[in-house]
Amino acid sequence: MATVALPDAAKRSDPHSYANTQDFRTRDIALELAVDFGHRALRGSATLSLERVNAKADTLVLDTRDLDIASIEAGHAGRLAKTTFELAPRDAILGSALLIKMPKGADQVRVHYATRPQASGLQWLTPAQTAGKRHPFMFSQSESIHARSWIPLQDTPQVRQTYSAHITTPQALRAVMSADNDANAAKSGSYRFTMPQRIPSYLIAIAVGDLDFRATGPRTGVYADPSVVAAAAKEFEDTEKMLQRCEALYGPYRWGRYDLLILPPSFPFGGMENPRLTFASPTVIAGDKSLVSLVAHEMAHSWSGNLVTNATWADIWLNEGFTEHATFRIVEDVYGLDAAQQERALSAKNLKDELAGIERDDDKTLTPDLVHRDPDDGLSGVPYARGNLFLDYLEAKFTRPVVDVFLNGWFNEHAFQSVRTQVFVDYLHARLMPQKPGALSDAEIEAWLHSPAMPADTVWPQSDAFVKVDAQREAWLAGKMPAAKLDSAKWTTHQWEYFLDTLPALKAAQLAELDTAFGFSKTHNQIIAGHWWKVATANHYAPAEAGTEAYLGEVGRMLLIRPIYKELVKTPEGRERARAIYAKWKDRYHPIAQDMIEQLLAKAG
Ligand SMILES: [Zn+2]
Repeated sequence: MATVALPDAAKRSDPHSYANTQDFRTRDIALELAVDFGHRALRGSATLSLERVNAKADTLVLDTRDLDIASIEAGHAGRLAKTTFELAPRDAILGSALLIKMPKGADQVRVHYATRPQASGLQWLTPAQTAGKRHPFMFSQSESIHARSWIPLQDTPQVRQTYSAHITTPQALRAVMSADNDANAAKSGSYRFTMPQRIPSYLIAIAVGDLDFRATGPRTGVYADPSVVAAAAKEFEDTEKMLQRCEALYGPYRWGRYDLLILPPSFPFGGMENPRLTFASPTVIAGDKSLVSLVAHEMAHSWSGNLVTNATWADIWLNEGFTEHATFRIVEDVYGLDAAQQERALSAKNLKDELAGIERDDDKTLTPDLVHRDPDDGLSGVPYARGNLFLDYLEAKFTRPVVDVFLNGWFNEHAFQSVRTQVFVDYLHARLMPQKPGALSDAEIEAWLHSPAMPADTVWPQSDAFVKVDAQREAWLAGKMPAAKLDSAKWTTHQWEYFLDTLPALKAAQLAELDTAFGFSKTHNQIIAGHWWKVATANHYAPAEAGTEAYLGEVGRMLLIRPIYKELVKTPEGRERARAIYAKWKDRYHPIAQDMIEQLLAKAG
């Protein structure tokens, strides 16, 4: 077939997708996939039902990355016949456009394909890499543009579709998806799913492993390895309470069930808001509910992100900033103001630290330029924390009850739509600003969205709990009190995180004193452990080297391992060690984490 010239990224409505959405838009995807652990592959077909936007269009362009395409059929109303196709050369960021010849009137295609072991959106784990150590595990991570590495589709958040799936697995294992999971389904090796709500491609998700289920409420529960499921159900027992708070603030929960899936420790993120089934890192099971704000965060995405979706990855603050704001509201309602202020203050402190290290000015704003860039590279804490502070700022100007009603309206009036930042600005003008004319200027909105510097009148949150930590840390550093005598018995995970992050350069004897007093190197709290190994690495503390290396082999959550690798690559000896550690543990990391570490190592020279 004649090659269609693909338009340049800057000219497409989504620079991260080749999809010709002006001609066709996907309405439904039906998956028929076999999970092959031996070859680390998904094999089968995807049937796309399309809306023909342009009756004359004769080519459908889908996104793919590293897929082996066997054959393709096209047609109408289930009558499909073999058609021709062409796979464009692979782009390092976007993958390969798949061009499919569409006969006149055709609005369905079936692609027969298989994934490759290196699929960027899948991770295949050996039994040794799971909590139970008996069965292999596989899971997907489709955000931002990884769905195309396991499904040929229009991989842009501007297209929403329903989906169904028939998944076959080894008999002992259970498959779950971001769909209507049935916890009572027998482990038969054959599972069927339907997702009746229209969702963007980055929310299509699958996991297969030795999974048990425990209910935590009438519409909430936890899927996890049998050895973890009881602890997880206990940790997340407040999920229904949180859901009710969300509904009170932002309107009815529209997705049916809200379940959690606890993944193996190599999961590269804290959580992923896959609809109906949040994927979560086991590092958030602290034993004292101190990290459950992660569940509040992923749950809040049921409104900001999953219901009202960023139309391009440059608009991601509409997903993450709104979600961060909602998270702190929910934590405040369920766990109290002190807990919420710790979250807010930590988020703001991390933003200040991060802004200081960001090179590109546009990456400090809420409107980065991601054309010709990998959207995962542009992802920092900025859209989360700065986005949240913008909404806090609106609260300060218009009062919290007014902003609550405004956000409720935003979610409900844009439900199941994908929106750009300008849509929000227009909505501000239409619905919030008239409530108090003169309170907010266009220049102020501009500054929040586009200026690299934080606005001078930013309201920076404070936490009394951190003020107490400051006093204890200073007393110890001044030699007024030994570490063992610090008033720290009731500190939360966030207070420990803050304590460790705000230490100056320390001597070996001081680090030894801290570790003896608080047992950092033996803690099972993976957040505190991660911050400790970072401090130890920054101070070249030799007794911590073995522990750091073991931690980097156990945990794959990027938020925790990235700072340690960053400290390591600062010195020539550290770079050597980082390379050796990475070579040893590479196979344990998710493809997205591998990419992140390889970039760090390459940049370090
Ligand atoms: Zn999020």
